[in-house]
Amino acid sequence: MKFYGWGYEDQTVSDQEIREMEAIWAKTLGIDSFDVTPAPTLEEIKIAPPRVMPPLSLAHITTVEKYDRLAHTYGSSIHDYARAFLREFSNPPDIVAYPENDGDVSAILDWCGSVDVAVVPYGGGSSVVGGVEPPRDPRYRGTLSLDMRNFDRVIEIDPVSEAARIQGGVFGPHLEEQLKPSGLTMRFFLQSFEFSTLGGWIATRAAGHYATVATQIDDYVQNLRVVTPAGICESRRFPASGAGPAPDRMFIGSEGSLGVITEAWIRLRKRPQFRAAATVRFADFYVGAEAVRALSQSGLYPANCRLIDANEAAFTGAGDGTASLLVLGFESADQPINESMRRALELCADYGGEVDRKNEASGEAHRTGAAGKWRDTFMRAPYYREHALARGVMRETFETAITWDRFKSFHADFMAAIRKAVEDITGRPGLVTCRFTHIYPDGPAPYFTYHAYGDQARLKEQFWHLKVAISAAMARLGGTITHHHAVGRDHREWYDKERPDLFGRALRAAKGVLDPHWIMNPGAIVDRSPQV
Ligand SMILES: Cc1cc2nc3c(=O)[nH]c(=O)nc-3n(C[C@H](O)[C@H](O)[C@H](O)COP(=O)(O)OP(=O)(O)OC[C@H]3O[C@@H](n4cnc5c(N)ncnc54)[C@H](O)[C@@H]3O)c2cc1C
Repeated sequence: MKFYGWGYEDQTVSDQEIREMEAIWAKTLGIDSFDVTPAPTLEEIKIAPPRVMPPLSLAHITTVEKYDRLAHTYGSSIHDYARAFLREFSNPPDIVAYPENDGDVSAILDWCGSVDVAVVPYGGGSSVVGGVEPPRDPRYRGTLSLDMRNFDRVIEIDPVSEAARIQGGVFGPHLEEQLKPSGLTMRFFLQSFEFSTLGGWIATRAAGHYATVATQIDDYVQNLRVVTPAGICESRRFPASGAGPAPDRMFIGSEGSLGVITEAWIRLRKRPQFRAAATVRFADFYVGAEAVRALSQSGLYPANCRLIDANEAAFTGAGDGTASLLVLGFESADQPINESMRRALELCADYGGEVDRKNEASGEAHRTGAAGKWRDTFMRAPYYREHALARGVMRETFETAITWDRFKSFHADFMAAIRKAVEDITGRPGLVTCRFTHIYPDGPAPYFTYHAYGDQARLKEQFWHLKVAISAAMARLGGTITHHHAVGRDHREWYDKERPDLFGRALRAAKGVLDPHWIMNPGAIVDRSPQV
């Protein structure tokens, strides 16, 4: 795996793709040519020796090798990549551990607790919020990054209840590969699917590709097994339970701060046999949003319902920039869904939506036409990010959720705030776009992207200033600081203001019980009170 970017070292983006992307970036941002900063190499980077060494009893599952420490220094945010391209690795973990079973995890947590070493659980490292970064806190003698890659098995499948017991470190493709012979699937295709893990999805409350109903990981988790510094916490397996507050809810979204998720029973479904897809054009984004609201409240529950504004459609090649596009999809393992699609298109027509008939309601429509183009760009996008950054092209995303009654004014004000921040901080206009990733009967989850051209020598600072200005605007205008990217270290300031104070104190008390030495991912979710 690259220690500075997305995927494996030999997964390169072709020269042809780079040329195409350069042309798009140049046109979008008004740039004539790009200076390219080369990717860092292992030899160029200097890091300090580990401040603490693992004991002999853990030697077989730990390492202090330079590559391992570099590869666990950062997650995958653009701010992380910017620092990697500056060759800045001033705070790597001291030790990287690769436990093989729950006993190993317990032994690591015991030792770390006894010598004040912080533990950062590490899945795929695809965090975009500073979730896997070692803390800079002098109270700790060092940091151990606990990599879950050996927990990569589907242990057991229950075909009757359509669920499986799965280990926390399994990457998306390997998870689906193991489920395939059973005919069942998790179908949790987040954009980082290739290089993120089940444990990471649960720990960050990730959201997959379903636009409605089964959006966030919460809906998939049947039970959890969590190794905490205080012992193992395993919930019972029920389809539902009204027995008090749900134990799993405490760990879903806990971002490694309460323990290590080593296993979970996950709800599955049969592979879809029936699919319908269509693209609908709306001359006005807000009218498209009204149509989406009607859809979200219709009881039709499309699997895909992405309203993409005209500029984003043009940037991805899915549209010509004159209209917003609604990429709509239904799927079922059990029954034809043409009637659902027919009614959804009728609803869209009520709002003036024009259907692109070429791509309507055929089994392969989701792979062709505008929907297919948009999907292809979406799948390749993670690989382009480090190449954009190497050319000074800054691309960052902000996602939130907001109730329908506040959506329109929120959207208008937030778009204006991003544009202003880009212009103030980089000194030139950028491209700011929006799409819906998920929709609920009570509101959408809008996802905003900016493209801007930065100063190569100051990219790290410019990214950070943009992050702060835009996150502050998000909070001020009333959106949640994250619908699915999580809190990490980067969103802490706004998360702390968003949650009720008493809830924050209750969480701190819970952490004190599960993690008495406060070693688990310090800085994520909740801090030690100053008195402790
Ligand atoms: C290009 C790109 C696209 C993305 N698209 C999406 C998207 O579509 N939807 C979405 O929701 N997110 C998305 N993300 C964000 C990211 O992929 C998710 O947050 C993902 O859930 C992180 O999983 P991971 O295994 O990589 O976890 P990591 O990045 O390794 O860790 C994330 C957090 O979880 C903790 N953690 C990891 N594993 C465990 C465990 N077993 N037990 C306890 N704590 C653990 C870590 O300590 C850290 O706090 C995207 C990121 C990138 C870079």
